[in-house]
Amino acid sequence: MLIYVNGRIIPKEEATISVFDHGFLYGDGVFEGIRVNAGVVFRLKQHIERLYESARTIALEIPLSMEEMVAAILRTVAANERRDAYVRLVVSRGTGDLGIDPANCREAILVIFVDSIKLYPPEVYEKGVPLVTSSVRRTPLECLDTRVKSLNYLNNIMAKIQAKQLGAVEAVMLNTNGFVAECTADNLFIVKDGVVKTPDLTQGALGGVTRRAVLELAAKEGLRTLETVFGLHDVYNSDECFMTGTGAEIVPVISLDGRSIANGEPGPVTLRLGAGFRKLRTTDGVPVPYASAPQTAKRPAALARRGPFPRRTAAT
Ligand code: PMP
Repeated sequence: MLIYVNGRIIPKEEATISVFDHGFLYGDGVFEGIRVNAGVVFRLKQHIERLYESARTIALEIPLSMEEMVAAILRTVAANERRDAYVRLVVSRGTGDLGIDPANCREAILVIFVDSIKLYPPEVYEKGVPLVTSSVRRTPLECLDTRVKSLNYLNNIMAKIQAKQLGAVEAVMLNTNGFVAECTADNLFIVKDGVVKTPDLTQGALGGVTRRAVLELAAKEGLRTLETVFGLHDVYNSDECFMTGTGAEIVPVISLDGRSIANGEPGPVTLRLGAGFRKLRTTDGVPVPYASAPQTAKRPAALARRGPFPRRTAAT
């Protein structure tokens, strides 16, 4: 695996950052998870926009323009020669001292990983999964806006630990008002009387790229879509329920807290949207410019010699 660290693409064994890095010390930073499907980076522009919006909210300056970021991602995916991959971008506040003040961090650090995709087994998509409700409430927006994909995931991690303790793969998280927010690393949808509903982003959900694609797909299929407010009662009594996310894509949910959703099988709208999404994922994005020449052992070193990335330009 070759990893991009501040402008250099280097073997994973050489990819290190300082123990004074504020992402490590304080979770001070932002990140993204992106899929590459059949050589196409899915909705790259939307992921980049979300990254830069997250960074702006936490007052973190990313030292690359958006165009340079796109080029760095494509270059790293191509260097890894993967056509199906999970790309993880991490932008940390950078190396500082032990105080929390980010003013002591000289420059943000960008790391790009290109890894294999960890998929759920195929039966998950055919049969669906049971969910539980976590007692861990989603961090309220007035404390840390959940649209920021920050390196602070403890809230979600605690809910994930609880989900697994209860034998579930994912958990529904409620906001501090008791309404449904999202899952620990996925967005949640219900279908009721033909209307496709998902919590509004003010309810404590990340603005998922898959969420948006599914809302668009549903609208294209002539279904009514609604970003709204709902509670557990609505999920228990829905006709269909499913989760969306970059890793999971569209996963049918067949029960919540031991109550089956409708007849306890993946619903027709869920399956139709899943099929639609599988078509979209290989076309809706940016193709990776792979080198046609076969990869040689010298390539990583050659790429590494290109040096650190240039300063952010005024254009973005
Ligand atoms: N909510 C949370 C908390 C997430 O971390 C994610 C990303 N895995 C999602 C929702 C889904 O967003 P996306 O579709 O962009 O992956």
